[in-house]
Amino acid sequence: MTSIPTISVRISRTDQNAHKGTLAIGDWAVPCVIGTGGLVSASVKREGDRKTPIGVFPLRYGLFKPLPALRFLESVSFPFVPCSDDMIWEEDGPDYNRLVFADGADRAGDRLARPRDHDLFNVIVPIGYNDAVAEAGRGSALFVHAARPDMSGTAGCVALRPDDLLELARRLKPGMLIDIDYDAASAQPVQPEGASPMESVSFSGMHPGPKFLVTGAVHGNEICGPQAIARVIADCRAGKIAIRRGQVTFVPIVNMKAYRANTREGDRNLNRNLRERAVPSDNEDLVGNVLCRLLRAHDVLLDIHSFRSQGEPFVFVGPEDNSGEIEPFKLSREESEFALRLGPKIIMHGWLPAYARAALERRRLGGAGDPAEGIGTTEFMRSVGGYGVTLECGNHSDPRAVEVAYAAIVSALGHLQLTDARPSKAKLEKTIEILDAVLCDSANDRLAREFVTGDAVTSGETIVVRADGSKVTAPSDGFVVFPDRNARAMDVICYFGVRSKRFS
Ligand SMILES: [Zn+2]
Repeated sequence: MTSIPTISVRISRTDQNAHKGTLAIGDWAVPCVIGTGGLVSASVKREGDRKTPIGVFPLRYGLFKPLPALRFLESVSFPFVPCSDDMIWEEDGPDYNRLVFADGADRAGDRLARPRDHDLFNVIVPIGYNDAVAEAGRGSALFVHAARPDMSGTAGCVALRPDDLLELARRLKPGMLIDIDYDAASAQPVQPEGASPMESVSFSGMHPGPKFLVTGAVHGNEICGPQAIARVIADCRAGKIAIRRGQVTFVPIVNMKAYRANTREGDRNLNRNLRERAVPSDNEDLVGNVLCRLLRAHDVLLDIHSFRSQGEPFVFVGPEDNSGEIEPFKLSREESEFALRLGPKIIMHGWLPAYARAALERRRLGGAGDPAEGIGTTEFMRSVGGYGVTLECGNHSDPRAVEVAYAAIVSALGHLQLTDARPSKAKLEKTIEILDAVLCDSANDRLAREFVTGDAVTSGETIVVRADGSKVTAPSDGFVVFPDRNARAMDVICYFGVRSKRFS
């Protein structure tokens, strides 16, 4: 087994003294203090806020005043070097958060070795925060150093009693990390009664523009959305992504009950039969009411999902403009242009009619089938005057799915001109119109081979072998979509699609 030697700094979330905590290496634990402002998410840490950033940071070397009592630090295993009189830690200017060296008698008042009321800086270990590519104003000069006798808070540094600091210096190892966070016991979220509130984060540009909604974890076990959205929120807060026009609302986790349980559904599939309900009766009814209100308040939706099988990411769009009964629509040009900017090279459509046909077929076979059940987030969005697409980023556990989702959000923000980025169109490889669903007669029906979504089949090729040996064959050249190895009787075992004439 291997491990990285780590110092943990833990602060109680509930403590009145937000700056007091414990520093530990393994079993060795001593009291410590942090910034008087307490802990702060590293993405919102600012110069002068007297807060200590949450995170895991490297400790690269230490400095000490060359006093006889501290000479032992030259022979401990961690690299300590004597502090010279000309050292300055820059807290401003072009060398922000760097160790620099003064020339001659310059800047005597800025030097690390200048006299202070307490000898807090006889031994310091710089914390590797905002230093690889230092960003101005994001925080500088974070050290581990000695605390004042009254253990009062610092300006953001981690401080120990002087004796404990020397003992820490003996225990430091090369490559050591410092892990700063709330202690787990006090950070444990309290489970509220009933359904959890839905967290949304909005950024409004200073100029007019569309209202864009980005949703994750409509299905609780699809975690690429929450992870990518959290990253985009951090980038927006840090100014790496600048929202200039309109408004974007991020909902990292739509279905918190299902997300906590790491299941697709809480009480039922939120992405079916989505509508407002005057008398909500389960988790998804409650969540659905809040979600529908949010959808109505926005113009464009990007709903981020992943899937159980293997396969390439794809985008699901709505129908062409039509005034029919199933899904009337007027914004197909806008929606298609949007979908083409998201990155995936596969675009599909035809969901609602195919789902409705499957529901009617199920009803014919004596099962329950409601054509309206196919209405999910994007269908609801279209029904209330907006447009939106479902982005399927890949397999649930594929880390690349997070990158697909992140890139899609960034491109979408640019395409909608909320940011100044100008994304290019994806080079489409497949466009699929879903035509039909194949229902299982029994749980022993099976797929003819290990299909993944988008696999091509030729006319007459066997797709499904029934329990009685009969075969379901492709009515024309086309594609298998959403194969489900675990389908039971009346479930859709797969959909069949053909090359779409749209997008050509
Ligand atoms: Zn999903």
